[in-house]
Amino acid sequence: MIVRPKDLELGPRRWAGSVAAPDPAPGAGIDLRGPIAFGLEVEDLGGRLKVSGWLHAIPRIDCSRCLLPTSVIVRREYDLTFESTEAIATEEEVELDEADLDIDYYPGDGIDLRPILAEQVLLDLPVKPLCGEACKGLCAQCGTNLNEEGCDCEAPVDPRLSALGELRDQL
Ligand SMILES: [Zn+2]
Ligand SMILES: [Zn+2]
Repeated sequence: MIVRPKDLELGPRRWAGSVAAPDPAPGAGIDLRGPIAFGLEVEDLGGRLKVSGWLHAIPRIDCSRCLLPTSVIVRREYDLTFESTEAIATEEEVELDEADLDIDYYPGDGIDLRPILAEQVLLDLPVKPLCGEACKGLCAQCGTNLNEEGCDCEAPVDPRLSALGELRDQL
């Protein structure tokens, strides 16, 4: 799914469908699993390409408490601007204005849309994903998954609390 400025000479182009996206973060335990459903439009803004649209995906990611894979629903809209690195190289003087800070760059003569979609999924993932609000996580001492069974570990005593207890005993 590579778009080149010359593909847009007759006006903006639209794509819709679903793609199997590349792993956005190898080794991070994120599994995009099913394809990413999307609809997008690419428009040539005089050398800069604007990519806007929506996507929907259900990646799997490890729960931050119990560490088991769980599905996350991602729905996202995006509006991105890209400029060719070749265009930058040929500009005699590059002046960065504030708007440039929001510009991404693509190498060569076209943009590959698949990694862009994968990155958008990545940006939408929760920082602390949970398999459920009620997830009890793992016992910090024996590692038992407390959603599945209990354990006999005593809750660790917070040293600050025990100091408070001693203070109370002295009163
Ligand atoms: Zn969990
Ligand atoms: Zn335990």
